[in-house]
Amino acid sequence: MRKTYFILPIVLICLINLFTINSYGQTVEQLRSEMVNKYRNQIPQEWSENATGVKNRIATNEKIIALTFDACGQGGFSDGYDKKLIDFLIRENIPATLFISGNWIDKNPTIFQELSKNSLFEIENHGTLHKPLSVNGKSAYGIKGTTNVTEVVNEILLNERKIQNVIGKKPKYFRSGTTFYDEVAVKIANDLGYEIINYNVLGDAGATFNKQQIINSAMNSTPGSIILYHMNRPESDIADGLIEVLPRLRNLGYRFVKLEEYHNQLAPRTILPSNYIYYNVVSGDSLWEISNKFGTTVQDVQKFNNLKTNSLYVNQLLILPITDPDRLTPPIEVSHSVVRGDSLWSISNRYKSSLSSIYRRNNLNEKSILQIGQRIIVPVEITHTVVSGDTLWHIGLRYGVSLQEIYDRNNLSQSSMIVVGQRIVIPSIKMHY
Ligand SMILES: [Zn+2]
Repeated sequence: MRKTYFILPIVLICLINLFTINSYGQTVEQLRSEMVNKYRNQIPQEWSENATGVKNRIATNEKIIALTFDACGQGGFSDGYDKKLIDFLIRENIPATLFISGNWIDKNPTIFQELSKNSLFEIENHGTLHKPLSVNGKSAYGIKGTTNVTEVVNEILLNERKIQNVIGKKPKYFRSGTTFYDEVAVKIANDLGYEIINYNVLGDAGATFNKQQIINSAMNSTPGSIILYHMNRPESDIADGLIEVLPRLRNLGYRFVKLEEYHNQLAPRTILPSNYIYYNVVSGDSLWEISNKFGTTVQDVQKFNNLKTNSLYVNQLLILPITDPDRLTPPIEVSHSVVRGDSLWSISNRYKSSLSSIYRRNNLNEKSILQIGQRIIVPVEITHTVVSGDTLWHIGLRYGVSLQEIYDRNNLSQSSMIVVGQRIVIPSIKMHY
């Protein structure tokens, strides 16, 4: 009798192991020696969050955002679970991608099981031991990285097997502890069937942002943004910030998606033009006409929008680089990147905007100090002089601005009368940067 108690678990473990090897094709051991043979003599040149091959956004003009949440398991505070945050996502039916480390799974096995059963969430790989991914022992934020090819493979595959044993499929995406890589480690991950996913919006800065900072950074999202948050820091302001800002983004027309839904559009970091506007394509537009109208070139519009052809669709949101402010057609908004020598006054002159509207739009005042590279939203407005037969409703229609915005900008209301010769400021259409 006693013997069966010992034998049964051993038989079960052997069966599980056999099954594991067969369903993965190659064993960890085989893959390890294959990768060591292929990469052991390659010396990396890069060490960064944007090493060659790292993806950090979805190339699209659709108003979608991928929320990603890391569970790090680095010990202490890092082993926690933000139940309030996850419950909010479930309640609001907001899909997300969860990057989970092997350490965190070991500390939260029951919660991991539960999360993996919820189809709202996609489970991805955040490393076995939550280390920066290096083939030669580089560190990031004081955390020592993997030291050779073997450790890189272990960092990816040991956690992969742990996850696969629970969810029944292999993760597709990998994000290292600290989001640092060298380009050789990225290639190894690619060979093991992974895309490396970082971010283009820093959602919580390692769970250090306060509520207002969390809201502000999320509001900087653009179509196709990948935002990095943490789901292992219940003591942080992350849940409170997201409970406020995610509905706001939804009201702006954004939809939240999982990474796997946009697998073929994952893309590396893009460089935005220094100064640009968002332009909404209308019926009859052509790339050539738009480029000409705003003083840019077809090639630049294609480059900054990842367009492979000349075809456009109605309501497509295009980024148009601005080189000649005199060719702008208001009412529009320009995103201006501050360069050396800029002041708000010089910026307002350059775009023929008003200082007060720049202050208002950017929450700035006369005491604000500009930083080089800072983005300033410049509303370029237009003044309409009322002619006989005009109504505010018709004026709004003509410029594509809502009646309420005209009321607000001009301190008018429904009961206001307008007279011929009166000057009405047409506010620029607010875009989401
Ligand atoms: Zn982490």
